[in-house]
Amino acid sequence: MSAIRSKHTLPERALRKALRQAKVKYKLHYSREKIDIAIPSKRLAIFIDGCFWHGCPKHGHKPKTNKGYWLPKLRKNKMRDKAKTARLRAVGWKVVRFWEHDVQKRLVWCVNKIAKLAR
Ligand SMILES: [Zn+2]
Repeated sequence: MSAIRSKHTLPERALRKALRQAKVKYKLHYSREKIDIAIPSKRLAIFIDGCFWHGCPKHGHKPKTNKGYWLPKLRKNKMRDKAKTARLRAVGWKVVRFWEHDVQKRLVWCVNKIAKLAR
């Protein structure tokens, strides 16, 4: 399981590569909030949320076994995401969250969105 939560997930690496190609400069795991991909000069924070861990509406299918363990854990993740977004916005950051499936299936769309905000 720890591999899934690793700092360098596959979609994250794909997005970083695409940003480099688009000549967008970014910082990784930035600040105390551990922003996945940050563009500090624009106060732009980008997060890539794993479909399972962050409860994506399309792929975050509820675990059928061990519900008592998983459901509170997943709920906690969601709450943590929300709180982090709120803290960053409160200090003037723009926060963009992508689902893992967006990065996998619509990488160009994600990069364009970031490039537009980072301009
Ligand atoms: Zn998904």
